[in-house]
Amino acid sequence: MRAVAVHPDAVVVTSRMWQTTCTAIRAANSADGRMEAMLIDSPYFPDELDALPALLAQAGFEVNALLATHADYDHLLGRAAFPQLALGVGESTAIRLRTEPGVAQKELRDADAEHYVERPAPLSLGSYQSLPVPGYVGLGAEELELHPAEGHTADGTAVFARWAGVLCVGDYLSDVEIPIVRDLEEYRATLARLGPLVEAAETIVPGHGSPHDRDTTLRLLDEDIEYLDGFAKLPAGRDTPRQREVHSANLELISRR
Ligand SMILES: [Zn+2]
Repeated sequence: MRAVAVHPDAVVVTSRMWQTTCTAIRAANSADGRMEAMLIDSPYFPDELDALPALLAQAGFEVNALLATHADYDHLLGRAAFPQLALGVGESTAIRLRTEPGVAQKELRDADAEHYVERPAPLSLGSYQSLPVPGYVGLGAEELELHPAEGHTADGTAVFARWAGVLCVGDYLSDVEIPIVRDLEEYRATLARLGPLVEAAETIVPGHGSPHDRDTTLRLLDEDIEYLDGFAKLPAGRDTPRQREVHSANLELISRR
């Protein structure tokens, strides 16, 4: 697990598993100047989740709110680190969690079994809080923007801390993954929506991989659009055996259309 400050008020922590990212963002409360911090998504391994509160507190981030970009199990583990907090999710994610009860829990169990990971407790979502998207969620005296980001899954929310220039997109615009497509039209619409947000951001954090600056992310965005146009070849730098499997699944999906 590694932590990188991408802004004086934002730290990205990257898991050893799938380079899964989580982002802590803080802002001062206007009433008493006290800092509030939001954690977006989560690392995977139990030891990482155990260490996360102290690591963030040491960096000056006392987390008091949790958000998940989408309902895939690897992004839902925030409460394993902060069990006293409720998990906030966009309304599309709340709907998915409600209509697929137990699926995230089972997928986490299966992934743990495959990788021989022992976890002290099963995934507990508690009573998650559904947030309107598009919309805003307050953090201190600031507001995080919530933008719809569907297509990778049936749900998805991109979170933009515009005052800090930090945009967390969930499982899009990754330097280590090609697009994992569930719905091609929605995926394209999400990339079109993310374009202007990337233009307005300084740092873009993908769900998996490294945080990038605007220009690098715009290049990844162009590569992803080109990839989706013909599914002809994998973007350079992401042509790995694992991404070829993803590519095959994408080809199968579009052949069924
Ligand atoms: Zn993911």
